[in-house]
Amino acid sequence: MIILMFGPPGCGKGTQACEIVGLTKITAISTGDLLRGEMKAGTELGKKAQDIMAAGGLVSDELVNDMLVSRISRPDCKEGFLLDGYPRTVEQAKFLDGVLAQRGFPSPIVIHLDVSADLVVGRITARKQCPVCNRIYNTMYQPPKNPGVCDFDNGVLFTRKDDNEETVRERLRAYDRLTDPVIRHYSSGNYHKLDGARAPEVVFEEISGLLQRELVGHA
Ligand code: AMP
Repeated sequence: MIILMFGPPGCGKGTQACEIVGLTKITAISTGDLLRGEMKAGTELGKKAQDIMAAGGLVSDELVNDMLVSRISRPDCKEGFLLDGYPRTVEQAKFLDGVLAQRGFPSPIVIHLDVSADLVVGRITARKQCPVCNRIYNTMYQPPKNPGVCDFDNGVLFTRKDDNEETVRERLRAYDRLTDPVIRHYSSGNYHKLDGARAPEVVFEEISGLLQRELVGHA
């Protein structure tokens, strides 16, 4: 089983990916994590990716495609895998189609967690940080015991510069611009757009239902 996860920052993709791995036992691969690993290890690829990642750009298709092929060639991917953060361009999507076909994998199940910009802005701008211990709170989901101050050292909580509404909206617009063509590439395939605004357990129930149907269909 091959699963591709799409969704903007703050949509709950990481939580759902974790649950899917628990259910299906396939390997989760995040190209962002792989690239950060390469950087930490000081490899040639890591050095090439460093400045591009720091500037928020995309690492070249060629480098990312090579890195992906080498990762999915490992034994833990034999039964399938879940990809998070890949493909990010139509070229990567076409490349992946070819690799999957060549290796006899089924075509991917595409899960797109849809959340409105307003909801993401609400979630992210509710984040507050303590300047003393750097702990992160969320006034909606994880508020401090006393409003505005850290539970541990009474530091006065502040909003990080990049967590303001304008920056978050710009990040979301950039995400849409890049992702829309990739999602269109899959929209006639095994594509599922789910409402990500619901509670995580409700979203997962829907995902596990559709994965069970897939398993039965391929039995
Ligand atoms: P992420 O953790 O998925 O947000 O990725 C962090 C950064 O890694 C991105 O901002 C890109 O610079 C780079 N990156 C991750 N995946 C890809 C990809 N599929 N194609 C190009 N660059 C990528």
